[in-house]
Amino acid sequence: MDDDDVSARKGSFRKFLEHLSGAGKAIGVLTSGGDAQGMNAAVRAVVRMGIYVGAKVYFIYEGYQGMVDGGSNIVEANWESVSSILQVGGTIIGSARCKAFRTREGRLKAAGNLVQRGITNLCVIGGDGSLTGANIFRKEWSGLLKELAENGDIDREEVQKHAYLNVVGMVGSIDNDFCGTDMTIGTDSALHRIIEVVDAIMTTAQSHQRTFVLEVMGRHCGYLALVSALACGADWVFLPESPPEEGWQENMCIKLSENRARKKRLNIIIVAEGAIDTQNKPITSEQIKELVVTQLGYDTRVTILGHVQRGGTPSAFDRILASRMGVEAVVALLQATPETPACVVSLSGNQAVRLPLLECVQMTQDVQKAMDERRFKDAVRLRGRSFESNLNTYKRLAIKMPDDQIPKSNCNVAVINVGAPAAGMNAAVRSAVRVGISEGHKMFAIYDGFEGFAKGQIKEIGWADVGGWTGQGGSILGTKRTLPGKSLEAIAEQMRTHSINALLIIGGFETCDRIKQSASGTKRRVFIIETMGGYCGYLANMGALAAGADAAYIFEEPFDIRDLQANVEHLTEKMKTTIQRGLVLRNESCSEHYTTDFIYHLYSEEGKGVFDCRKNVLGHMQQGGAPSPFDRNFGTKISARAMQWLSTKLKEAQGKGKRFVTDDSICVLGISKRNLLFQPVAQLKKETDFEHRIPKEQWWLKLRPLMKILAKYKASYEVSDPGQLEHVHHRGHEEPAAI
Ligand code: ADP
Repeated sequence: MDDDDVSARKGSFRKFLEHLSGAGKAIGVLTSGGDAQGMNAAVRAVVRMGIYVGAKVYFIYEGYQGMVDGGSNIVEANWESVSSILQVGGTIIGSARCKAFRTREGRLKAAGNLVQRGITNLCVIGGDGSLTGANIFRKEWSGLLKELAENGDIDREEVQKHAYLNVVGMVGSIDNDFCGTDMTIGTDSALHRIIEVVDAIMTTAQSHQRTFVLEVMGRHCGYLALVSALACGADWVFLPESPPEEGWQENMCIKLSENRARKKRLNIIIVAEGAIDTQNKPITSEQIKELVVTQLGYDTRVTILGHVQRGGTPSAFDRILASRMGVEAVVALLQATPETPACVVSLSGNQAVRLPLLECVQMTQDVQKAMDERRFKDAVRLRGRSFESNLNTYKRLAIKMPDDQIPKSNCNVAVINVGAPAAGMNAAVRSAVRVGISEGHKMFAIYDGFEGFAKGQIKEIGWADVGGWTGQGGSILGTKRTLPGKSLEAIAEQMRTHSINALLIIGGFETCDRIKQSASGTKRRVFIIETMGGYCGYLANMGALAAGADAAYIFEEPFDIRDLQANVEHLTEKMKTTIQRGLVLRNESCSEHYTTDFIYHLYSEEGKGVFDCRKNVLGHMQQGGAPSPFDRNFGTKISARAMQWLSTKLKEAQGKGKRFVTDDSICVLGISKRNLLFQPVAQLKKETDFEHRIPKEQWWLKLRPLMKILAKYKASYEVSDPGQLEHVHHRGHEEPAAI
């Protein structure tokens, strides 16, 4: 990349925000309803982005209650008031349920309190109740102002000046129960909590041959239950949207005993709080336990997770999601006109989008109505394609069809892991093996990558062999970095011997996982952290966003001594204020000469008297540990999809002889923008920088300025793609948000 490229890119970033000014505007931000991890990250982003564009931002404490009560509940925020909250769970500005706001009288008071401070932009972070309330408030606004003027509380001029209220919502809810958004803020962290508990329980249940009934939150929405069932390979799951068929009691017991017969030492049953049967009667955890004990005599325990799911630190995903949404919300407020309806900012695939609030609320209520009226198929469909695909994948992987019902394909398919081990690889193998078997193929596992393959380390693998693989870190099959080039002959020989018709490769250039890093303390200190990724700066960049870093050096955005100087000076100035902590991330290959040591020494010297420095090279711990729920599910789903694709290709090729290799028969599957895409390798070749083993275009580069803005730099940020409202019903994406 030459200098011109870099400056052109910097220039184009700059131009985006030039026309956007918040001067003279005031934004109120509040969190309402049930709290969720990541709400603080959203508040922080709103405050900082608001200040960045020159607006005033006010905290509204205790949700709508604070808005109704006014006084010290509405306080102007500054840059520092949101320092060090990114990694804190819950919400620092408090959340409450407020009866008064449900009445016009209450809303009248609230309007008075906002007008008094000139606030005509409202950013509400909450669930569908809170957002419905915001929408009602917006509609009544001009009427409320008129009434305030009639009562003599405000004068006519103020009515004119504050004639419109702009409302933007962000969905903060651990249940992921809001239609139109792939992921609500807090859901991913709640999944982390659930999976931590499941993993812990699994170790004890293994030892004692137990059955665990685990109840997770979700009175009206089965998302958490479904996705955790998928992420831990549960034996059975109960959801409100998809009640079990009549006679489920017997079916479940058969399933549990079959799994035990396959030497599985434990059973996990996941129950959503709001689970029901087809007659809309609740199915409770206790009931399930009773059933298992009386029918099967298994030692069975119930665990109800409760508020644990709301607790703990927000996951990297939630921090990034909330930060992106917060910035987007401010942009949406500034771009709002009297004609734009209240909107919700959300994520579709890896893209930020805006949707009309009312449409989303309506659709969310439609799901409930469908459930009430026992139209369960509709309920699942209305939840969205991603929910539906989760459900189908779960069913496919959890329940083995009887052998005589599986059509025989006469194809042999092998699965191999290559490259560095990455969390989620085993989930992908399990999924491929099980989907492959249910498609009628004979499945083979290759051990130790291409090196093992060349030596003949290949064996048939069955349904039960991959039981319990979802939650395990690393690569059970074993992986080597060796490329096939050297032993192509030997590999071809193995392919012939075992009559392998298709090969599924799970791995990548340098497979990235997300990283969490939080550092705080009482002394002023700057942490210099080196991340992995080869030449791919994704981890450094996203890690920086998730941790609220001050700088992230990556290969994709070249930097020179002037940039380093600007960063050091910036940080030194910042650390002279109340800010105690600095964080600098450096991708391992971002620069040949500006090494981690160099940067550490530079910051140490320049920061003398102001702050201390510490450095940390994260190294291989980034590839270790148990996979996150996101990686487990992503691995599971992407692999299931790849297997289905292979099956289709194999069918198409049948009868055409052995040679059917076309560009289209070697593909890479991954998320691109909003969709799961199969991209022929031939095409990817053109888009790949082979020397550095990265794509030529990295989508996440457009998030670079976001980190800078939130760290108080003057940078510009690209707003959501069209920056315009879309519609819930017309969106065709099918996979959950990916960051
Ligand atoms: P959530 O936002 O998590 O769905 P709630 O449904 O409890 O939580 O709503 C939170 C708050 O939002 C309520 O206490 C109330 O103040 C306000 N609210 C909810 N629904 C409405 C409504 N229809 N009209 C006005 N305010 C509402």
